[in-house]
Amino acid sequence: MKKFQMVDLHTQYLNIKNDIDRGIQEVIDSTAFIKGSKVTEFQEHLEQYTGAKHIINVGNGTDALQIALMALGLKPGDEVITPTFTFIATAEVVALLGLTPVVVDVDWDTMNISVDAIRKAITPKTKVIVPVHLFGQCANMDAIMQIAQEHNLFVVEDACQAIGAQYTFKNGHTQQAGTIGHIGCTSFFPSKNLGCYGDGGAIFTNNDQLAEKMKAIANHGCFVRYHHDFVGVNSRLDSIQAAILDAKLPHLNTYIANRQRAAAFYDKAFANNPHILTPGRDPQSTHVYHQYTLRLIDVDRDQLKARLAEKDIPSMVYYPIPLHMQKAYQDPRYKQGDFPIAERLASCVLSLPMHTELDEEQLNYITQAVLAAL
Ligand SMILES: *Cc1c(COP(=O)(O)O)cnc(C)c1O
Repeated sequence: MKKFQMVDLHTQYLNIKNDIDRGIQEVIDSTAFIKGSKVTEFQEHLEQYTGAKHIINVGNGTDALQIALMALGLKPGDEVITPTFTFIATAEVVALLGLTPVVVDVDWDTMNISVDAIRKAITPKTKVIVPVHLFGQCANMDAIMQIAQEHNLFVVEDACQAIGAQYTFKNGHTQQAGTIGHIGCTSFFPSKNLGCYGDGGAIFTNNDQLAEKMKAIANHGCFVRYHHDFVGVNSRLDSIQAAILDAKLPHLNTYIANRQRAAAFYDKAFANNPHILTPGRDPQSTHVYHQYTLRLIDVDRDQLKARLAEKDIPSMVYYPIPLHMQKAYQDPRYKQGDFPIAERLASCVLSLPMHTELDEEQLNYITQAVLAAL
């Protein structure tokens, strides 16, 4: 049996080695390492895949979020609502820009931002909602877009874990994660669902003005070289990463299907076990399973992790500490107990190996090991 890994990027590479190697070699031969034609080609292919009108490639997903917020004309102290159960980047860029992160609780089943909590958190200073499509399933975008419209707010989707997820609105219209809000952000970190072999990210928008402005911000704040209209940043996807992503993009739907197949296997194996809740599903969103995350009930998580490790099965806790409990984000507005669902999730979630190359033999072994260890 193959070695167990949270993500098996090597087998995935071997399956498309020729395309990847050729793409990298073409960039080296062209020496167009920055802003080469591969970057534009990938951008166009990704626009076709996602349906986004504009895609701006940037250096990583965190930059994507930062540039998105920089483009919205916000003032220091403006409030940005984000879930407290997520990766730190979502709140980090808010804090870095002198904006005020307002964290809210999440839903127990989907682990995504709670729309009731968003409604309660809105003040006259609220300007932006940043929903995170956690673990690969879209937040309740029907309600979030409605709230944004009622209160004249921007929506910046953190789709770093959800590229390719499809959201179907109550009116029957379907859109991809990242193309629903005013701006969407994604990451091409190697382990993400569409990962490169280094750092990379992208910003999606259907708004022409925002697209122009974000393109300029990502390029030192200039529309015309050496004419700087904004304080910008330097954030770009390099050509080698673009070539790798362009070779992988045609396989993304197969990769998603492989993850969904593995998730269905896990779901079935753990159904009805009193100690395990499998990921709750939102019927309006497909789930692309960036992570397959269990909620453990009355289980010693450390002990389970250790027993799995004895059998060479890795497992991870995403995320052990909610944002409002992080040292760097201590804030007199928040204390332990304020966000009970996020706090409970932080203490009971466990993510199992989830990637595009899991086979039935491995899945059998993993599920048997989990059930035996409970
Ligand atoms: C990975 C991730 C990011 C950051 O992406 P990087 O490319 O690592 O900067 C932001 N938000 C979420 C939810 C993520 O999973």
